[in-house]
Amino acid sequence: MEHTTLLQIAADYGSPVYVYDAEKIKFQYKRLTSAFSKVKKLKLNYAVKALSNISVLKLFNQLGSGLDTVSIQEVQLGLKAGFKPEQIIFTPNGVSLAEIEKAAKLGVQINIDNLSVLEQFGTKHPKIPVCIRINPHVMAGGNTNISVGHIDSKFGISIHQIPHLLRIVENTKMNINGIHMHTGSDILDIDVFLYASEILFDTAKNFKTLDFIDFGSGFKVPYKTGDIETNIEELGDKLSKRFNQFCKSYGKPLTLAFEPGKFLVSEAGYFLTKVNVVKQTTSTVFAQVDSGFNHLIRPMLYGSQHEIVNISNSKGRERFYSVVGYICETDTFANNRRISEIKEDDILAFKNAGAYCYSMASNYNSRYRPAEVLWLNKKAHLIRKRETFDDILNNQIEITI
Ligand SMILES: *Cc1c(COP(=O)(O)O)cnc(C)c1O
Repeated sequence: MEHTTLLQIAADYGSPVYVYDAEKIKFQYKRLTSAFSKVKKLKLNYAVKALSNISVLKLFNQLGSGLDTVSIQEVQLGLKAGFKPEQIIFTPNGVSLAEIEKAAKLGVQINIDNLSVLEQFGTKHPKIPVCIRINPHVMAGGNTNISVGHIDSKFGISIHQIPHLLRIVENTKMNINGIHMHTGSDILDIDVFLYASEILFDTAKNFKTLDFIDFGSGFKVPYKTGDIETNIEELGDKLSKRFNQFCKSYGKPLTLAFEPGKFLVSEAGYFLTKVNVVKQTTSTVFAQVDSGFNHLIRPMLYGSQHEIVNISNSKGRERFYSVVGYICETDTFANNRRISEIKEDDILAFKNAGAYCYSMASNYNSRYRPAEVLWLNKKAHLIRKRETFDDILNNQIEITI
C-alpha cells in the first residue's frame, strides 16, 4: 500500500492500528486458485485463526472461499459472517466430544484427529460424515513450534495407527468422507510436501466413501528479502497432476481442499505504530513504539522478522535501530535493523502483519487492543474499534475487600 495512504489512516484512526489491503487478499486468493486450475474440484477453506475479523471473513465469503475453523466460536463467527455450514470445516485439536457434537449439530464438516473421540463420535453418530486428520510424520520446515506433522506432534492420527482406525470405522459403520493433513506452517521444499501427499493418497485408498482430500496448509510467504517462499505455481502444477491421476485410480473425481491462512492474509497486513521515544544508550539506539508483544507477539514468540519501514521518512538516511515496545518486559521487535532515520512521532509500519498478529493480541499491561482498518475499493473502513477502558474492566467483578 502507498505510504501516504497508510499515514492518512494512522492520522485518521490513531495508532497503533492494523490495516489490511483487500486487493492483496483477493490477489493471493486468485493466485492460489489459478495454480490449481487443472483440478476439477478445488476448495479453499481460509484458516480463520490467522485473522478472524468478521468483515475479513465476509470478504472471503464473497470470493467463494470456505472456512477452516479450530474452535466452536470460530464456527459461530463464520456462520454469523454468512457462510453456510457446509462451507465450514471444523478442525480442532484436543477439544471435547461435546464441542465436536455441537459443531456437527450446526451442520459443519467435522474433522477428527484422535482415535478416542473418533470411536465415541462414530458410536453415537454413525450417519454424520467425518473427515480424519492424519499425521504423516513428515517434518516440514525446521522450527518444531510450527511443524505439526512430525513424530512428537500432538496433531493428527498417526499413520501407524491406521489398522486401529480402520477397525473403529468398520465396527461403528461410520462414514469417512475426507482425509486431511496439515504438516506445519512452512513448506520450504515442494518435494517434502509431495512426499507427505503420497502418504495421504496411500491412506485414502483404505476408504471407499471419500468426497475430498484436504492437504492443509503451510504455504510460506516471504517476510524479509532473501526469504524462500513456497513456489505455488510449481506446487500447483505437480500436485494437480498427481491428484488427477489419483482420482482416476480411485474411480471418482474428488475435491482437492486446502486451508491456507498466512498465504492469503499475511502480506495484506500493515501494523502502524508511533515512535514515542528515541533512546540512545551506550550500545544502541532504541526506537520505542506505542505497542509491544501485547499487539504483535510473533517476533518474540517465533523469532519472526517483520520488515519495519519508517513511512514518515522512507527516503531518509539509513541507521541501525533496535525497535522495542512500551511493555514492562523485554519486547524487542527487531535488533540492529537498518531503518531510515527515525524521529519521535514518526510512524513505523510493520509488514506481514495480516496473519497471526491481531488474532494473537492481548490486553497485557492493561493496554487496549488496536483498531483494525480494511482498505477496500480505495477507501478505509474501520472494522474494529480501538478498545476503551470499559473493555479492560469488562467481566471483572469488583468485590468488597
Ligand atoms: C493454522 C492452521 C492452518 C493455517 O496455517 P497457515 O500456515 O496459516 O496457512 C491450516 N489448517 C489448520 C488445521 C491449522 O490449524
